[in-house]
Amino acid sequence: MRPRYSFGTNSPTTWPIGFFIARGSYLLKSVLLAALIFSSILSATAQNKPAESKEKSVVVAVVGGTLIDGTGREPLANAVIIIEGDKIKEVGPAGKVKIPKEAQKIEATGKWILPGFIDCHIHLSAETSDLEYYRDSNSLATLRALQLMNTYLRSGVTAVRDVGSHLEAMQALVRAQSNGYIDSIRLYPCGHLITITGGHGYGMHGSMAVDGPWEWRKAVRQMYAAGFKHIKISPQFTLEEARAAVEEARMLGLHITAHGGGFSDTIPPTMTRIAVEAGVECIEHWNEMTDDVLDLMAERGVFDVPTLYTYYASYQRNDISRFLIEKRGWSMAMHDTLFKKAYQRKIVMGIGTDANGEYRELYPQIYFEEMKYFQRLGMSPMEVIVCATKNGARILGLEDELGTVEAGKAADLQILKANPLQSFDNLGRPETVILRGQVYKF
Ligand SMILES: [Zn+2]
Repeated sequence: MRPRYSFGTNSPTTWPIGFFIARGSYLLKSVLLAALIFSSILSATAQNKPAESKEKSVVVAVVGGTLIDGTGREPLANAVIIIEGDKIKEVGPAGKVKIPKEAQKIEATGKWILPGFIDCHIHLSAETSDLEYYRDSNSLATLRALQLMNTYLRSGVTAVRDVGSHLEAMQALVRAQSNGYIDSIRLYPCGHLITITGGHGYGMHGSMAVDGPWEWRKAVRQMYAAGFKHIKISPQFTLEEARAAVEEARMLGLHITAHGGGFSDTIPPTMTRIAVEAGVECIEHWNEMTDDVLDLMAERGVFDVPTLYTYYASYQRNDISRFLIEKRGWSMAMHDTLFKKAYQRKIVMGIGTDANGEYRELYPQIYFEEMKYFQRLGMSPMEVIVCATKNGARILGLEDELGTVEAGKAADLQILKANPLQSFDNLGRPETVILRGQVYKF
């Protein structure tokens, strides 16, 4: 029998939302095989290899489509987008933008062009296997992560922030991309999330447990030394520990986010206030939060990644502890209300998925379910698209580089056959994805 996931306690033998356990070992074989096969398919379908674009910048012109550029502006009909190498060179209406003679033309008449989407909360290498039968390894974790990255590429999600995965897997994938061994989506990992001994995520592959402000400083330095540019802290922590982590992150030029609020029975809701007071840039999830903490987030411009759909799925599967429901007033309505309050306060929110273990089967669709959830709670389709694109880039600290289809930004975009402003049902099946200027046709 596989162990049943429980949200009930915070002990090392139970697993936080990032780390569910599921499935038999047969899945491992198929995952491995799928990752290998899919990587080769991807390299075969990439029309412009990075090596070529370095020698001589390939020019691509996307013409005739309706552009939704991710800024929230009105769509631009009959748009022309000129891409040179891995950057967008020019964007404008047909007739106003000169199409270079050598440009490879991509005809998009009758189609919709959007920036590539960004997932701000994922655990790419989180276990799916039943570890009683198979000892997980860094190699397998790396392939598992790559498989999900490739699934995302063909779904139009072109960048992710990983908030806690196998350290070696994340390092290998980042290095393999920069060395040109693999072509896949942009990866911005935190390495290990940082928690206390016995804290949320303790004992998992994607976490490290340390105690006291100096150990917390050292943990941030270790992630920095390991090459990561993002830090994730996870409850519990004292104000001193959280402050130490924030100070170190600032000094080293890293971005820092915190798991917000309760979730495990033993995590008090006060954790979010501590994290915000300590100075984190972003809060993951909602969970329990008082209005004054939301006010403080709004005042300080702290972002949030609600990951609502994964909670919704957890309630559906009775995976939320009775204690939280009965004693702490948890319900989906609580998460929904917090979202609405944050929306009223204009807190910048991004799309995050956080589906792990047995919930991993929800990929890639969960990304679009999260978008639909935002819409159900009162956002316009355009506002949700901004969350998936521009806001994602802001949360990553990359708003000058990514997230919108504008001159000077990264050439990461997707071409859809149906109008996403009419329905999100057609998201996830782009006809073409352009990533770093490379054209992938599906
Ligand atoms: Zn998570």
